[in-house]
Amino acid sequence: MFDFETIRADFPLLTQTVNEYPLVYLDSAATSQKPLSVIKALESYYSAENANVHRGRHFLSEHATRRYEDTRTAIAEYFNVQRTEIVWTKGATESLNLIANGLTSHLKSGDKIAISAIEHHANIVPWQELAKKVNAELIILPITADLVLDSNECAAFIREHKPSVVAVTHASNTLGNITDLEPIITACKEVNATSVIDGAQAAMHLRPDLNKLDCDFYVFSAHKMLGPTGLGGLYGRYSRLNTLDVYQTGGEMIETVSLTHSTFRDAPGKFEAGTPHIAGVIAFAEAIAYLTALDFNGMRQHEHTIFNYAIKQLSTIAGITIYSHKENNIGNISFNYRDEHPFDLATLLDGYGIAVRSGHHCTQPIMSKLGIPGTVRASFALYNSLDDVDAFIKALKHCIELLD
Ligand code: PMP
Repeated sequence: MFDFETIRADFPLLTQTVNEYPLVYLDSAATSQKPLSVIKALESYYSAENANVHRGRHFLSEHATRRYEDTRTAIAEYFNVQRTEIVWTKGATESLNLIANGLTSHLKSGDKIAISAIEHHANIVPWQELAKKVNAELIILPITADLVLDSNECAAFIREHKPSVVAVTHASNTLGNITDLEPIITACKEVNATSVIDGAQAAMHLRPDLNKLDCDFYVFSAHKMLGPTGLGGLYGRYSRLNTLDVYQTGGEMIETVSLTHSTFRDAPGKFEAGTPHIAGVIAFAEAIAYLTALDFNGMRQHEHTIFNYAIKQLSTIAGITIYSHKENNIGNISFNYRDEHPFDLATLLDGYGIAVRSGHHCTQPIMSKLGIPGTVRASFALYNSLDDVDAFIKALKHCIELLD
């Protein structure tokens, strides 16, 4: 059972007031809030457990190493993959850069890399840089008029153009629109394209079974999954992961070093140079435990209810344009009011304690497609309530009165 009241009470930050109004946090697509268990784990790590991992024989170091590696097992179980297929990074951005750099020696001049127009900049720019480096060609996958990857068209496009890499999002951060990945991944396998899925937005809301999805790479951000900031990771099918070129080099990722030559560990070790975000990883175990203990279907049902209610309420306001897909959505709504600048609306909403995001959301190609400078984005998560939606809509109506 999904016990909303108990869940809400687990997130201490949500009880505060902002500008003398109860905070309504509608910015979970940027970063999720953290349950008390995660916050306590961070405190406990620094007050009683702090030590570096992997290189000590003393009690604290071995303890930290065990907990660090246990979290790797926990996230592997969450995604239903092997623990050796998980690499820790500082976020989805670093994960995508690691993969794009790691594919350098696998590509040759004239190869094709396929991306889409609804990607976050983190899933565009690393591919542009890789394309420049190896003289590859970037090709753009088809999307529908309502800004969803057109999966069957994408599959046909992949079969026709035979790219070496296909990098697509599982859900758009700006719009929330969910990609039907299966036909795309099937087509990738047929043409032996490396499939890279940006799961930064979807990993918490959709809890994907990566064994079933059968993609080559899937990246995630811990801080968008109730975990600490500065932490993310990636899943890589072991045979592909282990053959990626190394990204960052230095301590920890090596097997042997002489003054003129070094050898590297196998994955995942060879992708984790230097001292990692140990506290973050250990605290992230609590976030994974929290998510895993939830009734997943209950959570999705709750998120659907909140999202549908918000869409319904927004749709009744004259002058509001909603850009997000209204059914196939993880819970992010992008909208504008007439031609008011989204920054102005977001600033006015903040005056009522409503935390929404405004701008291009690191998706300038979406804004070009829509012919607008940006949107206001309200994004929802498991700890939001119908009351949050009511407060948001009420404040929005006040803001509109001020603007009109
Ligand atoms: N991809 C998507 C879809 C995202 O929403 C984000 C974060 N906004 C990223 C990639 C980058 O994640 P991070 O900032 O955690 O590196």
